[in-house]
Amino acid sequence: MIKDTLTKALIFDKHARLLIVTSTETVENARSTQTLWPVASISLGKVLTGALLMTGLEKNIASVSLRIEGGGPLGTILATATKDTVRGYVENGEVHIANNNQSLNTGFAVGNNGTITVLKEQIDGSHFTSACEIQTGEIAEDLAFYYLQSEQTPTSVILSVTIETDNSVKTAGGILIQLLPNCPEDIISLIEEKLKTFPQLSTLLQKNLSHEQIIELITDGNYQITEKYPVSFFCPCTKERFVKSLKTIPRKEIRLMIKDGKDIETICNFCHQKHIVELEDLKKIYFRR
Ligand SMILES: [Zn+2]
Repeated sequence: MIKDTLTKALIFDKHARLLIVTSTETVENARSTQTLWPVASISLGKVLTGALLMTGLEKNIASVSLRIEGGGPLGTILATATKDTVRGYVENGEVHIANNNQSLNTGFAVGNNGTITVLKEQIDGSHFTSACEIQTGEIAEDLAFYYLQSEQTPTSVILSVTIETDNSVKTAGGILIQLLPNCPEDIISLIEEKLKTFPQLSTLLQKNLSHEQIIELITDGNYQITEKYPVSFFCPCTKERFVKSLKTIPRKEIRLMIKDGKDIETICNFCHQKHIVELEDLKKIYFRR
């Protein structure tokens, strides 16, 4: 199995760009820390993978956050990706959906009645948000719709997560193809044709095909790699960040916490790391020292 990597390429005489990511370890990392059941692993895995691809498309963007609120039993799914890291969580990780085959549809679990919100944070700290309606809850179609609706950019997205019988992640990855301005009609039809007959991404990942070999299948060799870098699950949470968030809550609530006489303990939703804010820290926050 190849290490988690994102590869960028220009394809068909630079008329389109293609990003491919392998994210098996990244998704497995999220699954094992958050003890997710299969449909939750697949859904979150697709959102994590999608967020990495979306950040990979950007220039001068520090991070892309995806919030999926589809109204299904999984609840809200959230992911934030920087160029080469991603973290995310799913509100209800213990959702079970009976299935008779290996490929679980996420549409029902995610829901298709709600919104997908994309927040892009620029390197200078400014950010902008856009949202669109969820179409299917299968995530890949929803992201393609987002690009068409909110950014007027025709985009194809493939996202795939498969699960072992022991519930661990077997394969995870994704491909994103975006047409560049003035892409000729014949190339658009060619890409559509190629994607129609494209094998299951999970099968290719299982066969250990390299990114170059997979891109070759889509482009018949008409591509050039522009960048390649490792990606991983990473949560930047620290005790300091938690302290900072405590500074935003009303002073009288801090006073009650101090009165309680106990340290405040919190567990990060993303990486399940425990952070303890001691009574002394609380007093410092209270007196704004
Ligand atoms: Zn964390």
